[in-house]
Amino acid sequence: MGWNLEVAEAKGDYLTETDLWRYTQQFLMNATHTTTYKHMLMKALLECTTELNDSGVLTFRQISRHVTKMYWNLIVTNGLRQVNQIGKLSSVEKTMLAFQATHEIPLTWNFDRLPDEQQQQLIRNVNQFYKKYVYGSFYTAFGETIYSFNRKEEWVKLVPSYVVFFEKYKRVLMNVTNYQLAVFLEKYNTREVMEKILSKIEFVSARQSLDEFKQILLSHGHPVCFYCLKPLRQIHVDHFIPWSYIQNDVLWNFVLACPSCNTSKNNRMAKIDYLYALVERNHELRVAEQMKTYKEAKLIHLYDYAVQNGFEANWVPKK
Ligand SMILES: [Zn+2]
Repeated sequence: MGWNLEVAEAKGDYLTETDLWRYTQQFLMNATHTTTYKHMLMKALLECTTELNDSGVLTFRQISRHVTKMYWNLIVTNGLRQVNQIGKLSSVEKTMLAFQATHEIPLTWNFDRLPDEQQQQLIRNVNQFYKKYVYGSFYTAFGETIYSFNRKEEWVKLVPSYVVFFEKYKRVLMNVTNYQLAVFLEKYNTREVMEKILSKIEFVSARQSLDEFKQILLSHGHPVCFYCLKPLRQIHVDHFIPWSYIQNDVLWNFVLACPSCNTSKNNRMAKIDYLYALVERNHELRVAEQMKTYKEAKLIHLYDYAVQNGFEANWVPKK
């Protein structure tokens, strides 16, 4: 139902937090019966909140990049299957496996290791499929409240109260979505492949290397640790707001750190003075191509939201 809509407006009703929970829980309870497509879209939207423009618009292309990366890492790198109820390979699975075989890509390669051209080709394939089948049914599954969308112009526009809701409860929503995916995958996969399934799903979007970001940061500043200011010999790239909250790799959230600071900070956040230092650093970095999604206010909000999600914000480097 709803999957073939061309253009749709989100229902204009005022949504209370109780409404938002109700629609989200209805979605989570009902979305897993036949495929994982809608859950992957949910994960992608949670990841994409850092990339929203001022009017809350995301292009299908932006979303497809996240979905494609997750499916590649799930199906090819981790060998998981999501066979549908009649026992045939799902469409996205077929695409991924055929692509891997044709181009003889090693099974151990994460999506981010594929050459850009191959990534783009896969993203286009997944985008066509999602455009045709998924955006409409996802919209229906959320009681037509979550976004407006236009299939011809290929965008969704998230309702502002959902954006806030996603940021405020991101970790809990991600945990439940991951759990539901695991329950679904359990039906179709062997015990061997299912081993450590929750961490496989949790890290399905993580990159194998952050070197690309290291190079950009090195070319824009001095090689000193962002936190303790000591000159760097061994260089780590640190997610200022922890990856497990932000679930996305954006240049404006990366800093260079020494191994000692990076390890000791771990899954916490540095205290607020460092947030101000990062705002300043990002001001200097603003010319970089990868800063297009950056807004000072967004970074500050995300820091606060991460605290609301249970992340401590009191870390300081050791003296
Ligand atoms: Zn340091």
